Amino acid sequence: MPEAPKNSRDQSSTTMATMDYSLTEKNKKSLQFIEDVTSNPDDVQLRILSDILTQNADVEYLHRHGFSGQTDRETFKKLIPVVTYEDLQPDITRIANGDKSPILSSHPISEFLTSSGTSGGERKLMPTIEAELERRSLLYSLLMPVMNQFVPGLDKGKGMYFLFVKSEAKTPGGLLARPVLTSYYKSNHFKERPYDPYTNYTSPNEAILCPDSYQSMYSQMLCGLCLNQQVLRVGAVFASGFIRAIRFLEKHWSILCEDLRTGTVNPVITDPVVREAVLRILKPDPEMADFVANECSKQSWQGIITRLWPNTKYVDVIVTGTMSQYIPTLDYYSNGLPLVCTMYASSECYFGVNLNPLCKPNEVSYTLIPTMAYFEFLPVNGDQEQQLIDLSDVKLGQDYELVVTTYAGLYRYRVGDVLRVAGFKNKAPQFSFICRKNVALSIDSDKTDEVELHQAIEKASSHLVPFDATLIEYTSFADTTTIPGHYVIFWELNQNGSAQIPPSVFEDCCFAIEESLNSVYRQGRASDKSIGPLEIRIVENGTFDKLMDYAISLGASINQYKTPRCVKFAPIIELLSSKVVASYLSPKCPKWVPGHKQWNKNNVDDQ
Ligand code: AMP
Repeated sequence: MPEAPKNSRDQSSTTMATMDYSLTEKNKKSLQFIEDVTSNPDDVQLRILSDILTQNADVEYLHRHGFSGQTDRETFKKLIPVVTYEDLQPDITRIANGDKSPILSSHPISEFLTSSGTSGGERKLMPTIEAELERRSLLYSLLMPVMNQFVPGLDKGKGMYFLFVKSEAKTPGGLLARPVLTSYYKSNHFKERPYDPYTNYTSPNEAILCPDSYQSMYSQMLCGLCLNQQVLRVGAVFASGFIRAIRFLEKHWSILCEDLRTGTVNPVITDPVVREAVLRILKPDPEMADFVANECSKQSWQGIITRLWPNTKYVDVIVTGTMSQYIPTLDYYSNGLPLVCTMYASSECYFGVNLNPLCKPNEVSYTLIPTMAYFEFLPVNGDQEQQLIDLSDVKLGQDYELVVTTYAGLYRYRVGDVLRVAGFKNKAPQFSFICRKNVALSIDSDKTDEVELHQAIEKASSHLVPFDATLIEYTSFADTTTIPGHYVIFWELNQNGSAQIPPSVFEDCCFAIEESLNSVYRQGRASDKSIGPLEIRIVENGTFDKLMDYAISLGASINQYKTPRCVKFAPIIELLSSKVVASYLSPKCPKWVPGHKQWNKNNVDDQ
């Protein structure tokens, strides 16, 4: 993920020598900061907790739990419960509806950040305050100094990052609700960043900020191609997003080449601000157009990244967690360039950075920066009554669920991520990301759990009733062999009726499942186009018995065996695939509108 600039003076007028010097100084300072905060993490954490409790001493939430100005850890742990989003929902709804009293934070809530985690099918709303932008920028500013230790010289060229804004909505009380990165890219921290060799991107701000995702992608790709020799690193936030960009190139290279050849912008780009920004970069370059066309028209796209952007040193994308499913595709397109996961962050809070960015994806660990929030850890697989553990007390090799207390007003909030202690930087633990709890299926930023999937499938299978057919068993998997990836559901049916079930009925079932899934899934399908149509594959009778036999042959207990509702293990997917008798795709995109369904009651039907 690209970093935020520090508030340094404008360097455009300084000489090269002073620029190098100030960059070295800046890098040194950032690395020293990391040394300092990781050397005594418990002291830092105590200070942060005390700071948060002092700032928010008068908020309703703390008073409600018996607080009257205390700032010590013992009282905090005794009085404040560990909570989930659902516990906070009444308070969040009040804020969304316009209650401006200090409910969670003494600072005004500046906006809501819409998480890709959902509750009741809608994005969770995370309150945030103005000062959090500063804290996020601080984390970004650590990334390049760390990277520079391993890959020097990145200040001599550009980063080609595919960055996008998503739509925003207003709560009934008038607060903006939008994803954290949209909020960041639209902030002056990003838009008005002073010149910094590390935040020198091929994409003009206007292209990143373009609300039309097609125009945004087209213009970012065009600029990236035009400036190809200067590109030293490429990336997107998540692996899925970067692969989508490569796929876009596969589909559109010939019209992009026309623009490169003539130095004009295709009329599909209608946004005048974007056109103007791209035209500032573009110049007629028939040689470049021939080069790109020649590479793109070759049959194999293996190594296309290194071929088109030959000076690229690494691919900067998150490939930890569910994104690891994209590693083989990225390796193919990049000819095995290092895949670099730089940071771990969320709408609730930005957490930490990877201090060894060139390590292999399965060795990535994130050092939580102790100034970002107050962190606690709930041991996983332990006794549920177990006490939460502090940052400096976690044990190597143990798994924990992350719990945060933030300046913006989350107190002992369960993020839902499971982390494993993989090592230490000085006295601060480093965590590998194990999983997000309860996520069964994920293609992009969607996170579908088993309960949601089950309810959606149950509802959809009612379409089979008129044909005297019932669903006996099902399972699912995230198929990332297609671009974009899509959900696949295997169905085994019991058909008593003699009438053939027409394909349109199964297609209706696919669509009905999609309509029932959460809004992040539907947005991915309908707006971002980051998820492909859901597929139902009908398997022959007896397939799920064979699945059970196979699991038992691998050591599963016959008494405890339950059909897995999501499968990842390749031999199991192969077994299921070998039994498929028919498959059907959802014929259209499910409905999606920005904002929460409760806010849209009056206008959903008009859309
Ligand atoms: P959101 O609230 O939509 O910003 O999503 C935040 C969630 O994305 C985190 O809680 C993690 O589950 C996931 N996430 C963020 N960064 C990483 C990372 N570096 N590796 C794996 N998962 C991540």
